[in-house]
Amino acid sequence: MANSQSTELLRLEQVTKQFHQRTILNQLSLSIEDGEFLTLLGPSGCGKTTLLRIIAGLDHADQGTIKLDGMCISQTPAEQRQINTVFQSYALFPHMSVLDNVMFGLKVRQVPHVQAKEEAIATLTKVKLENYLNHKPSELSGGQQQRVAIARAIVNRPKILLLDEPLSALDYKLRQAMQLELKRLQRQLGITFIFVTHDQEEALSMSDRIVVMKEGRIEQIGTPKEIYETPDNLFVAKFIGETNLFKARVLKKLTDDTYQAQIEDKTFTIHSETSLKNQSLVSVLLRPEDIRIKEINMNTTSNLLTGHVIERTYKGMTLDSVIHMDYGDKILVSEFFDEDDPDTDHSIGQRVEVSWVPSWEVVLTHENDS
Ligand code: ATP
Repeated sequence: MANSQSTELLRLEQVTKQFHQRTILNQLSLSIEDGEFLTLLGPSGCGKTTLLRIIAGLDHADQGTIKLDGMCISQTPAEQRQINTVFQSYALFPHMSVLDNVMFGLKVRQVPHVQAKEEAIATLTKVKLENYLNHKPSELSGGQQQRVAIARAIVNRPKILLLDEPLSALDYKLRQAMQLELKRLQRQLGITFIFVTHDQEEALSMSDRIVVMKEGRIEQIGTPKEIYETPDNLFVAKFIGETNLFKARVLKKLTDDTYQAQIEDKTFTIHSETSLKNQSLVSVLLRPEDIRIKEINMNTTSNLLTGHVIERTYKGMTLDSVIHMDYGDKILVSEFFDEDDPDTDHSIGQRVEVSWVPSWEVVLTHENDS
């Protein structure tokens, strides 16, 4: 994982790519640490695969440079880059055994047969396929085929492994098992992984850092915690997880990082590291799990809003409620389920107070919007 001693392995500078005069990657710059598990996350069509293909050397950028270990590789052919790719479709040779599939790249590089066989078996053991050496891909499950594809991509010890939605063809349970497996493998091998996914949960649980992309640009780079808890803008906040949005007007500064603000007709204290102007409009973001609801108590008036419960969904660990706020919006609240706690015992139609844990809100000025 990236830490204070980590060194830069890959650097993209101002990479731009167009297809048919449409800009797909727009002056994108990114630095990737050695040994990092980095995930590219973003909506369909935002340019994730294009970026991966340019890093792999399967496509070329129109402008910009790519450096691996400080050396420019923009013009280096794919097979000389020490960067391998695992595709969603596995792309195994169907007529070859598992062992031959993994040995193939070594043979192309003219590694002597005995050594190639030893290395292929050692790699297949790492992905727990040592008992399937002579099977054909069609005799394996989806998860096993994916492991063969991974073994084939890591057998010649690339510096970087690119994974383009490698788990999307697997069913939910297998996918979760393979997520753990991939993480374990990455730690064990110490190879830098650049992983593409649509799936935010997968990105949050597996990555050292996540790059959130939109329309060929980077919206935010950060650890899963930073991306989830302190999104830089509304796009990131809405793309990752559920979020509730309250429009607020700043009334006055209270301390260095607290302000009095008005949300609907109520007064709130909000926290912001960024300086906020009096009377400016800001967005106050809250995750469903940071919001508290309780039965209405007419005596408290500040730092809360009111509404009524319109939906309750039991999710095992949590109870999710949709609250129709008196001012018209609907918000989502997620509470840890405790059947002995009357505070979580709300019924449909019940009038409730909505508040949140002080300082857990994220305040975005409209300069952050994209
Ligand atoms: P998804 O998550 O759906 O796989 P993505 O973020 O990986 O999407 P890309 O596959 O990089 O997106 O595609 C970005 C845009 O570039 C899309 O609009 C796509 O149609 C376009 N595109 C990609 N490759 C080509 C190509 N070879 N020729 C023309 N347009 C292309």
